[in-house]
Parts: sequence; structure tokens; C-alpha cells
Amino acid sequence: MKGGYAGKLLRVNLDNGTCSCSPLPDEKILREYIGGIGLGMRLLIDESPEGIEATDPAAPLLLMTGPLTGTSAPSSSNLAVVSFNFNTPYAVATGHTHGYWAAYLKHAGYDGIIITGQAENPVYLWVDDDHVEIRDASKVWGQDTRETERLIKSELGDEEKISVACIGPAGEAMLPGASIKNDRNHGASKGSVGAVMGSKRLKAVAVRGTSTVPLNEPLAFGELTQTWDKAIWHEPKPGEGAPAVGTILAKGGITRAYSYVGESHMLAGKNLSDPLWGEDFSKRFVQAAKDFTITPKESYNCSIACAYDCKINSGKFAGFTASMCGGGENMEGAAGMVGIDDPSEALALTDYFDAMGIDSSVGGSLMGMAFELYERGILTKEETGGLELNWGNYEAAVELLDQMCSGEGFGGNVLAKGLKEASKLLGKEAEACVLHIRGGGINMHDWRPAWSVLLGQIVAGAGVCWQGPGVDAWTTDPDLGYTDFGEPMVPDGKAEAVAKTQMKKLWEDTLGVCWFALWGVKGGLGFSSKSIALATGWSDFDEKEAMIVGERMVNLQRVIAIKRGFKPEDEFDISERLLEAPSVGKAAGKTIRPHLRKMVQEYYDEMGWDKMTGKPNHSTLQKIGLTSDI
Ligand code: SF4
Repeated sequence: MKGGYAGKLLRVNLDNGTCSCSPLPDEKILREYIGGIGLGMRLLIDESPEGIEATDPAAPLLLMTGPLTGTSAPSSSNLAVVSFNFNTPYAVATGHTHGYWAAYLKHAGYDGIIITGQAENPVYLWVDDDHVEIRDASKVWGQDTRETERLIKSELGDEEKISVACIGPAGEAMLPGASIKNDRNHGASKGSVGAVMGSKRLKAVAVRGTSTVPLNEPLAFGELTQTWDKAIWHEPKPGEGAPAVGTILAKGGITRAYSYVGESHMLAGKNLSDPLWGEDFSKRFVQAAKDFTITPKESYNCSIACAYDCKINSGKFAGFTASMCGGGENMEGAAGMVGIDDPSEALALTDYFDAMGIDSSVGGSLMGMAFELYERGILTKEETGGLELNWGNYEAAVELLDQMCSGEGFGGNVLAKGLKEASKLLGKEAEACVLHIRGGGINMHDWRPAWSVLLGQIVAGAGVCWQGPGVDAWTTDPDLGYTDFGEPMVPDGKAEAVAKTQMKKLWEDTLGVCWFALWGVKGGLGFSSKSIALATGWSDFDEKEAMIVGERMVNLQRVIAIKRGFKPEDEFDISERLLEAPSVGKAAGKTIRPHLRKMVQEYYDEMGWDKMTGKPNHSTLQKIGLTSDI
């Protein structure tokens, strides 16, 4: 077996309670799909009955590492969770999480786990090097993700060297947006992978591993990955682009950097109805953070440590510690969307979303819609079962989330049905103000002032998610020739930037490292492709081949979608609020709407797809070896 890979996949069938190992696919497939989302998507479509739904017991849930996972590569902690998409049924789902889980799985000797079937009663999986066991989860079923991690580690008798990935009550209830959480500060959610796990009655997967990852040229690999790690921290000279995102979010995430989001009027506040509220909140949060005790929480081999624990030292939450991921999206979904003014309440509510195991981009968008309707007098106290959904009502937000998870009350009977169905139930005004793209929750900033990010979210092949960020926000991409930010609210150049950054991002998603070790890093394409060459022994693997891998990923997602029923009009299944011009702020009076169809056609052109149908041209599929898939 090639270096970089552990050499085998663990297969778990929950129908009959069996676990077995199988070898990885042959070397040609590995070189074309690498690992992570790449190998995951290949295995998903090769091993799934045609047209199967995400939560059908026979539909696989794949937990995939990459060849760099668990090595000395920077932030080599990426776990790619791959399944069919619960929110956007024709699409694949690709969730990402970090922490320690993926590295420990690799060290236990597995490149990934393929889970099929449905357990009769709740179970969890325990992987301890060669020892694999399906265990009774009745004691943790019903517990939140924090308590589940703690109880399973305690049951297995090791608090230090075990990592637990689990679902919370939201996953058990198979809610839209349900996530898989691990190591407290991390979680995968896109495509509602937690609902897929819940459908299998699989509460958790605990791992411990004691081996190391074999490498073809270990010395050269070690030297290269050290240089790569230093490059993350490079301070760009004029003309070299913006600092890498990893440096912006290092050692405590957005606690210092949040003003950037607010001042750009990208902070998702009050259901995107008030960008100026977001600017004010970001300033108050950064100020309040000076009084919090912030402890960076790094992932495996990660010098960035964007995730953090935040202890609140005063007020009604004094003594409470929120375990946060690095970016601001989670807090905006949980708290910004319902107008929580108090930074401590915002932290506590975000932590509660994570404890219940739901992606705040979905849960928060559902609540933001309900709060806005209530504030406007369209939704009444009688209809909400007595809840007063005024902006900033923390207790009402907690109650709604509890109702969604328990299936009771307004939350359980209306919001739990998901963004499209709940808004339809609530009527035209709700459909006009709900936030979704193809039924999924957007990555929760207000992207109306950053059109390349918005276009990237719209055309993302795995349902709405970070895929093609373009260069309008956060950082630039010097390896692709983008050393300046784009003019954010003009249509020109967006399609090209989205297509190129998407191919690069999806290459990076096959490796088994965190995107923050590569996003905006000068030379990152060279470091990552050379690392693969040195790890595996594919000595001629270069940047060009890396970008072709990325192109193959984008096309594979499109092929999967078309085979599962995607129609050209689905590209424009975008909620109205995202296409509205805000009345205030940097995007006041501006909207992508009149340009969108042309921008999508330009994107298709960039990708080598038919301009009208979005179907990849034969020559495109031939170039990347996917002709037999469609
Ligand atoms: S940068 Fe943040 S998310 Fe990425 S591996 Fe490090 S701590 Fe985890």
C-alpha cells in the first residue's frame, strides 16, 4: 500500500451488527480521488442503490480521512462526512469537522468507515485499534452532545486518548440541520449528516489509535510540512495578497476579528433585516470578549487553534464556559438571527445549539423567520403557543429549540419541518423572509455585500456550503493569481473566481487537512500537492494534477445531482430574502438578482458545462475521466 494511507476501510452493517475490513480501491482510483470528500463521494455512488434517499437504511454514511490526516501536515485533522443530502435530496452531502477524531481513526489503522443499515436499538461504535465493537447506547440516547462525549469516555475508561463523534437530540429526532459533534468545539453539519446518523440509530463513534501513518519519504515530508506551517503565518508584502484566514482566526477565532464582519455589513442579524444592528453587535462582542477568559483549543497538529473555550466571568452566565468553533457563522445563526444583543447570551445560546447538535444555519434561520414574522405581527402569540418571539428573547429561542427536538409545540409541529416546508406552512410572508438555498441553510453571514461568496453558495454542488468562495471576503488567493480582493458587488469576474477557487477548495477537501491551513496561504497549492507526492510516492504528482482532482470533484457532484434528479431550474431555488437589496448598509439598494442568470451561465461556461442545462459537456467529462458516470 502507498504511504499516506492506512490501507483499509472499516465496514459496519447495523442491520445485522457486523463489522469487517476491506482494502482500499486500486491505486488509479486513489490517485484520481485521493481521500476525504473525493474518495468518499466515489464510494458513495459506487455502493448505493440508484435513487436511494439519504435516510434509507441502505444508504451509506461515510466517515473519511485523507492521506495527510494524522501526519505532520499542518492541521491534519480533517474528517469528511459524506452521505446523500437530507436537505437537498438530489445532492451529495459533504460535512467537515476537525479536532482529534480523524487523526485517531487513522492511527487506529483505517482510512474511513462506511456505515450502512439501521440498528434495532440505539448503539454506538467503539474502534480501539484492531478491536471494533458495536455497543448498547441506551444510556446516552437522549443526552446532549456534551454529556454523550463525557459519558462514553467515562464508560470506556479513558478521558485523554479517546475522541467521540456523536449526535445530540436533534440528530435523534432527524431534524433538518442536525449535526455530528466531536471534541466539544467541532462538528460537521452540512447536508444534515447528523440526521442521517440518527436514522441509523447510531448515537456515536468513539475512536482510539496508537499507530502512525506510513510515509513514502518521511524526512522530506517532515521538512516540507514544517515549511508549509510557517507559510500560514507569512505576512504578505504589497502585491502578495491578504493574510491567510488561519492567521486572522488564530488563537481564539472571531473574538478579536469580529469587527471585520460587522463593518463589512456581513453579520447576519435579525434574519438579515438589519445590517447596521450587526455592525453594532460585532463591536460590543469584541469589547465584551476582553472580559471573557479565552482558551484556544487546537485540533490535531494545528498551530492555528481557531477554536476556543470562552469562560464568561460576570452577569447571569458568570462561570459558564462556551465551547466555540473559530468562525462567527455559528453564533450568527444561533444568536444574531434572533437579535440577541447580549454577547454572553449569544455565547450561551450558540453553545446550546451545539449541545443539542443542530447547525445554527438551519435552526437559526427557522427561528429568525419566526421572530421576524412575530415582530411584524404576522405570527401571533396564539399561534406560537404563548411564546413571545421578540428580537433578543433568549428564553424563547431556547424553548423553540427544545420544542424542535422534542417534536412538541410550535417548534416541533412547524419549524422542525425544515426551511422550505415550515415557511410554506406559515404562508407567503414566511416564504418571502426565510433564508435557504435549495432547502439548505447558508453559511451564516449575510453574503449580499459579497457576490462571489453568494454565487459560490448558490452553485455549490453539495447543497449550499462553502465551496467556491471567490475573493470578495476574508482573503485572496495568490496561487490562483488573485492578489487583490474583488470589487464585491459587481457581476464581472465572479463566475471565473468561483469556478477556480471551488476547484482548489475541493482538491483541498480530499487531503485530510483543515481548510484554514490552506485558505489564502501563498504557495499552499504547491505544499499540498508536493505533500501528496512525498507521502504516497507519486513523485510526479504536481499542482496541475491537484487542480484536475478538484475539477473532477466539482463535476462528480454535478453528475451525482443530475443522476438523482437535478433540473436546471433548481439552480435558482433561492429564497427571496437573499435576492433582496438591503435598505441600509454597504449593499443598500444593490442586489445580485438581475445579474444572476448570466453569472450562472458564465460559471457553467467556466466549468465546461452546457450553458442552458448545466450538464457537463462530454469533452469536460472525458478530460477528467468521468464519462462512464453519466
Ligand atoms: S484551524 Fe481551527 S478548525 Fe482548523 S484544525 Fe485548527 S482548530 Fe481545528
